[in-house]
Amino acid sequence: MTKFVYDFAEGDRDQRDLLGGKGANLAEMTNLGLPVPPGFVITTDACRAYLAEGREPESMAAEVTEHLTALEKTMGKQLGQADDPLLVSVRSGAKFSMPGMMETVLNVGLNDESVRGLAAQAGDDRFAWDSYRRLVQMFGATVLGIDAEHFHDALEAAKTGKDTKNDLDLDAGDLSTLVETFKGIVSEHTGRDFPQDPREQLDLAVRAVFDSWNSPRANIYRRQERIPTDLGTAVSVCSMVFGNLGMDSGTGVAFTRDPASGARGVYGDYLQNAQGEDVVAGIRNTLPLADLEQIDKSSYDELMGIMTTLEQHYRDLCDIEFTIERGKLWMLQTRVGKRTAGAAFTIAAQLIDEGLIDDDEALRRVTGHQLAQLMFPRFDPDAEKELLTTGMNASPGAAGGKAVFDSETAIAWAKRGEKVILVRRETNPDDLGGMIAAEGVLTSRGGRTSHAAVVARGMGKTAVCGAEELEVDVRGKKFTTSSGREVVEGDVIAIDGTSGEVYLGEIPVSASPVVSYLETGEIDAGDELVVAVDRIMGHADSRRRMKVRANVDTGEDAGLARRFGAEGIGLCRTEHMFLGERRSLVEDLVLAESADDREKALAALLPLQIEDFTSLYRAMAGLPVTIRLLDPPLHEFLPDLTELSVEVAVARERGELTDKQEALLENVRRLHEQNPMLGLRGVRLGIQVPGLFAMQVRAITRAAASLAAEGISVLPEIMVPLVGTVQELQAVAAEIAVVVQEPESQVDGAPVPHQVGTMIELPRAALVAAQIAEVAQFFSFGTNDLTQTTWGFSRDDVESSFFSAYLEHGIFGVSPFESLDVEGVGELVEIASWRGREVRPDLKLGICGEHGGDPDSVHFFHRSGLDYVSCSPFRVPVARLEAGRAAV
Ligand code: ADP
Ligand code: MG
Ligand code: MG
Repeated sequence: MTKFVYDFAEGDRDQRDLLGGKGANLAEMTNLGLPVPPGFVITTDACRAYLAEGREPESMAAEVTEHLTALEKTMGKQLGQADDPLLVSVRSGAKFSMPGMMETVLNVGLNDESVRGLAAQAGDDRFAWDSYRRLVQMFGATVLGIDAEHFHDALEAAKTGKDTKNDLDLDAGDLSTLVETFKGIVSEHTGRDFPQDPREQLDLAVRAVFDSWNSPRANIYRRQERIPTDLGTAVSVCSMVFGNLGMDSGTGVAFTRDPASGARGVYGDYLQNAQGEDVVAGIRNTLPLADLEQIDKSSYDELMGIMTTLEQHYRDLCDIEFTIERGKLWMLQTRVGKRTAGAAFTIAAQLIDEGLIDDDEALRRVTGHQLAQLMFPRFDPDAEKELLTTGMNASPGAAGGKAVFDSETAIAWAKRGEKVILVRRETNPDDLGGMIAAEGVLTSRGGRTSHAAVVARGMGKTAVCGAEELEVDVRGKKFTTSSGREVVEGDVIAIDGTSGEVYLGEIPVSASPVVSYLETGEIDAGDELVVAVDRIMGHADSRRRMKVRANVDTGEDAGLARRFGAEGIGLCRTEHMFLGERRSLVEDLVLAESADDREKALAALLPLQIEDFTSLYRAMAGLPVTIRLLDPPLHEFLPDLTELSVEVAVARERGELTDKQEALLENVRRLHEQNPMLGLRGVRLGIQVPGLFAMQVRAITRAAASLAAEGISVLPEIMVPLVGTVQELQAVAAEIAVVVQEPESQVDGAPVPHQVGTMIELPRAALVAAQIAEVAQFFSFGTNDLTQTTWGFSRDDVESSFFSAYLEHGIFGVSPFESLDVEGVGELVEIASWRGREVRPDLKLGICGEHGGDPDSVHFFHRSGLDYVSCSPFRVPVARLEAGRAAV
């Protein structure tokens, strides 16, 4: 039979699944011999059964009775006993901490009789009535579901009646009157009296804690934090200790180190003559914990000793709730505490120095997300700021500029050197130009997976999304805050993508010291954070098996990536080299009518490409450089069909139409595709347009050959995109084989060293990987396209249409474009790796999609045996760290 109730002494910290975090740690502290008030835990099994069946499991009541009886025996008094009542708290606590989301009821067991017994025992009437009014208040709001405002108002009225703001000025008489008022509120709102039977109070409170698992706010919180919805909560029943027994009593919270900076020291707050939430509720001003030393030296010393014990035991920063009852210290909660990204690194390094953890463990305790956060510039913390609103912290960083409300303005203003923030209700792919031009993006709709958020994160651009209080009027070029403040086009605003805050005016920004360290390797010995990052990054590099490369298209970016630690280029997108002024050359190529014209166009492009590759190679001297042959649909280089049709119609009307214009329209129409992403692109283009790929290969190998003559060696890896069958690759490989025999592509009478490989970005390619590997020397997984083609949805469209509904319905926990869909797309990656390596054991495997910089995905690629991941330059340190973490 399932056991539903555990005594504190029966559990330990590894039982968070069953006892919840709070229960498991209370058990752990009990077994460490720390002063924890005795109690027991009702398991998450019981909660799950209750939520499924709508009632408590049958044997639960008897088990509660058994444990309650034992507790009563230990304490020498019975729950709610009239002359000397045992009181308990009924506390929620799930596996993952969900601060403030669920319920706790204190002082269970008090009623009209036992309040007098409590008063007599304590020799303090005020204390007893204070405890009773707290019970009725918490029970009324939490268990009986009465709007907490009613109690709050009555309490405020009582204070006003005494002409005070301090709850300590209410005496026993006032509080007993208040209890009557509270009980009146209960009867009025529930149609029944406040329950006097202590056991009934206990049972109802337990049930309320179970129910609170499914409260709307708890659900929202779980969705945000990606906590599974079916875990349920445990309930800890803990005998009460009292911090409200006078000025020699009190309650407090403490951290064993500073959770903001990681610094060692005494951090916490203390409040005399107070109970429970009073410290955090801000009812009175708290004292810094250090003051406790003066107030109660022996409790203070004991607390410091216990904090050391806890840190040694948990080998980590702990946070703590404690209460002092008439000079006696009690521990009410502990857990491994949350901390900022900076503190995570600092503390991990401190703990190595203190001998509590080793380097591997330190590496496990930090994350790529945290490192990424430390790399963003930030607003000067001391600057004065006027907050306009707070939205979702969609893409971290700090950005400021003039508010603009459309993409064209953003582009135009940025061109003339102005910093702008693009403000939209929501963004769509048409806004891309504006997003690129802007310093940051602010939207009033949509969440962390909205188009704006996803695109901004991809570009490393600061974004605040879903700032719902803002009324954005795009036509009127202004937005209005909930307090009625108007911001019009050209007004300067500042957005903090790390906190979600939006400010008016300019705020100074400072660069991250972590970035300058990562770029230069220089360490300021006085900067504890940078020293810590260096130590942990060094260890990650020594542990990781996977290499990290970068996705870059220019020599400049390649240089940056290399300084960040990139070990080669995993993806150079050559189409980026065909934009701008070179566009017309590509247009000539596409529109060439004769072989001669085509040759001319190609000949014009060749020297430009050689230049491009030479600068990449120089930056990556000694390392492999993967260059992808032209990939996107051709029409991307041609004028837009609709616009051109209009132009032609107008010209015809005016009798100004030229033959050239007409021919252009004809061609654009011919090349127009309904579904270009599934059309003439990648290898298909190479086969359709003779000479195009040969020209690129010529540039790739000639550039390498001439650098080799200078003594600079690189390994070009020629990558053929969108291959679905080995015949396609064979055709291109044959072309390559001819080109590399040309004298300019040779060194010392042999073709310059190079490899030929392919991207795996179609499910078919993954499935026939064994055949493809007969020709390909490497595979690079293009997981963006592979995700699109596996799921059959277009990344450019779906994220702004139905993805939010999918996330809301829990169909995805996270967009598969953000974090690799391991079950589906990941399976294809594994199939292809495995089938490819059966044929060619030294097949080089890498990934060049956005997922290369996503921490979760990096762990998967490590497990799948990939040789490297490739990502944008700023993600390189993140990938290095995560590749190291995956290996420990
Ligand atoms: P939360 O998860 O919101 O912190 P808790 O269950 O920890 O809720 O309890 C709320 C407050 O009541 C905390 O300040 C806690 O320390 C205090 N508290 C809980 N149980 C007891 C008890 N048995 N005696 C005294 N104070 C308690
Ligand atoms: Mg707590
Ligand atoms: Mg692709």
